[in-house]
Amino acid sequence: MAELKLSESRDLTRIERVGAHSHIRGLGLDSSLEPRAVSEGMVGQTAARKAAGVILRMIKDGKIAGRAVLLAGQPGTGKTAIAMGMAKSLGLETPFAMIAASEIFSLEMSKTEALTQAFRKAIGVRIKEETEVIEGEVVEVHIDRPAVAGAASKTGKLTLKTTEMETVYDLGAKMIEALGKEKVTSGDVIAIDKATGKITKLGRSFSRSRDFDAMGPQVKFVQCPDGELQKRKEVVHCVTLHEIDVINSRYIYELFTSLNRVKRDIEKSRTQKPNSNQANVATIVVAIGFWMWPRKLPAAKEMIGGHYVLKSLPRTQGFLALFTGDTGEIRAEVREQIDTKVAEWREEGKAEIVPGVLFIDEVHMLDIECFSFLNRALENEMAPILVVATNRGITTIRGTNYKSPHGIPIDLLDRLLIISTQPYTEDEIHKILEIRCQEEEVEMTESAKHLLTKIGVETSLRYAIHLITAAALACQKRKGKAVDLEDINRVYNLFLDVKRSTQYLMEYQSQYMFSDTGEADEDET
Ligand code: ATP
Repeated sequence: MAELKLSESRDLTRIERVGAHSHIRGLGLDSSLEPRAVSEGMVGQTAARKAAGVILRMIKDGKIAGRAVLLAGQPGTGKTAIAMGMAKSLGLETPFAMIAASEIFSLEMSKTEALTQAFRKAIGVRIKEETEVIEGEVVEVHIDRPAVAGAASKTGKLTLKTTEMETVYDLGAKMIEALGKEKVTSGDVIAIDKATGKITKLGRSFSRSRDFDAMGPQVKFVQCPDGELQKRKEVVHCVTLHEIDVINSRYIYELFTSLNRVKRDIEKSRTQKPNSNQANVATIVVAIGFWMWPRKLPAAKEMIGGHYVLKSLPRTQGFLALFTGDTGEIRAEVREQIDTKVAEWREEGKAEIVPGVLFIDEVHMLDIECFSFLNRALENEMAPILVVATNRGITTIRGTNYKSPHGIPIDLLDRLLIISTQPYTEDEIHKILEIRCQEEEVEMTESAKHLLTKIGVETSLRYAIHLITAAALACQKRKGKAVDLEDINRVYNLFLDVKRSTQYLMEYQSQYMFSDTGEADEDET
């Protein structure tokens, strides 16, 4: 009787929240890249959306790498929204990494390391891999109930068949849980991935087509598989270079810790049994391993037993490693090894590179060193498409005394395709607010929407968007059905916009600490 041993796999449930851009579902273009007035959550800004669409087409065709685009415009004109629209239209297979420029200045890693990680998060590798699956029609699922409730974990048996053979597998608790979750019953045709334990229901066997009446038309009927139960299947993984880096540096980290442990054990045994030859030899081997590690990785690998790099492609344990905390800096040797390996896979036809998009918001926050890094990084053949955004005019380049348009050095600016965003008309603001009301599930009367639009025109689109949920709470408090004028008035008076806040400050500045205006100084003297 064959035993089915499967490694653990976990489902991660995604939590969806209403965010600033959650209403954006794409760029809202038709097949000839013409922007529809209102589509996929996008309103107006047609020229910029069309330009972004052309870039998107180039990315999808996989024709360009290392291009850079600048989205420039006033605050709140939809630069981030357009970048999000691009990300959504690219689909899940093309990597999209998004950072704010200020994230680069973290204490944990150097600026160039942070930028390198961001770049590698935006480069995908599509890897074809053979994996073992068990595929067959379920003859019977038999689960033994423990005599005393909760006494021991459940066990059971699963009988699977193809047109040529039938096998009974022993089931452990995890497999029983997985079968229960998928509601597998006899007559189902299933596939079990041996590496991850993932069960996929392929359909109902044709031999059970008489069940059709009971199950309804939505059930898919398939042939009972033929041949062997265990098969090798080609699967395609899409991972980013950064994910491969992290997984492998985890292996190395684990290897280092286990080596340290071995070393400690040996030292302990030496104090207990002086002159133990065996222990001395082991210490020398480990010491040489440590010495060679940074210098000659492949040789060190031989010496310490070959538990190293790219032994396993990202599977469950690899992906889980990604969630277990900071990655810190990744050693240059690891990256070199990975790049060589990926190049080998490409030559062998096992993998292909998918250049994605790296979006850097508030790009004027980068300094001159980061800009020169970007210049160089864009020349790499694997470089992703770089999209940067800024709302600055002519301003000082961080780290220098020089001024430049958008705070970006002229040499980098020269490489960028510039897309500019324009302020919205009253009508467009009205439409965006309507979409946001739907997204935030807020009922609002027409007159309230008009007032909110007027507020948006006078203050800013962002301020008006913020008032939606606040007004809904005010409406809820007075037990109203839909947000009305009085609710908008109430929250407008509760929360100041920038203009009114500045006016207030001007009036009462003397009562604030460290007030830094000419008048205050005059008062002091
Ligand atoms: P900043 O320069 O301050 O970063 P920005 O240009 O990036 O501003 P966004 O954050 O994209 O502005 O826009 C502000 C809000 O308005 C967001 O909630 C965004 O989703 C929404 N928005 C902006 N433009 C559009 C649009 N054309 N269609 C729909 N929603 C939009």
